[in-house]
Amino acid sequence: MVIGRFAPSPTGPLHFGSLVAAVASYCDARSQGGQWLLRMEDVDTTRRVAGASDEIIAALHRYGFVWDGEMIYQSRRSDLYQQALDFLRDKNLAYPCTCSRKEIADSSTRQGIEGAIYPGTCRQHPAKAGIPAAWRLQTSDKDICFQDKVQGRQQHTMATDIGDFVIKRADGLFSYQLAVVVDDALQGVTHVVRGADLLHSTTRQIYLQQLLGYATPVYAHIPLVMNTAGQKLSKQNLAKALPADNVETVLIEALRFLQQPLPDNIHTRSLHAIWQWAYTHWQLPKNTIAHGKASHQW
Ligand code: GLU
Ligand code: ZN
Repeated sequence: MVIGRFAPSPTGPLHFGSLVAAVASYCDARSQGGQWLLRMEDVDTTRRVAGASDEIIAALHRYGFVWDGEMIYQSRRSDLYQQALDFLRDKNLAYPCTCSRKEIADSSTRQGIEGAIYPGTCRQHPAKAGIPAAWRLQTSDKDICFQDKVQGRQQHTMATDIGDFVIKRADGLFSYQLAVVVDDALQGVTHVVRGADLLHSTTRQIYLQQLLGYATPVYAHIPLVMNTAGQKLSKQNLAKALPADNVETVLIEALRFLQQPLPDNIHTRSLHAIWQWAYTHWQLPKNTIAHGKASHQW
């Protein structure tokens, strides 16, 4: 059974970039007769915006998405994330770290795929007492390799390309990386389709899956929607909420962005019929080097 999912963070309303990710994972799952789950990724409660998750749910309803089972909230699942952390601690794979950002920047000697590599200070010396500690995963020189359905083959070495990364923050919140791995596994997700900005997170997630004894899903990272300034469309750069009307037109734009070969008369069809067309004809988009450019006003 194919199980896909959409996992928005409730930091603002659904925008065109997140709609594209939702449409892609939905079509991917439905075209294979699979289930599609909805998970609210509100693990970082400091970034949560009041009302945003209800707005996202209402927008998904408006666009005609139907999800399977109950939607889950990460903010209610800390016990499960703690169990995973305890398991890693028991195996001596996680250690407390009290380094500040500045200390890390000053002492790091190596750049990884996503910034300075943590130099392992607290791995060698116990974390300072009396300071709230984060928990870091101890990485090895293992290579993580996967075949992304859109981006092709990816290969990174944990210790030298990524380094020991935080799985629980000093403020007590679990990291996205740990939460997403636990949830994808416990929900039985088999197919992850999401934006290419998360391609590099996947290496960490697969590494965690291997340590925790979880299966690795199939991954497809779709091209990112950029604004006219060439930035990723996101809540941080104030991407506009989707218009409340014209859902058919916006859905068609999302499918066009995803490089689907739309028939000429698609605009004459009902929302239901557009969806019907979309998952009977679904094919993953190609990786566009410059990322997709949105040709519309959202
Ligand atoms: N919650 C993440 C986001 O909104 C997506 C996580 C995922 O799909 O793995 O960017
Ligand atoms: Zn440290």
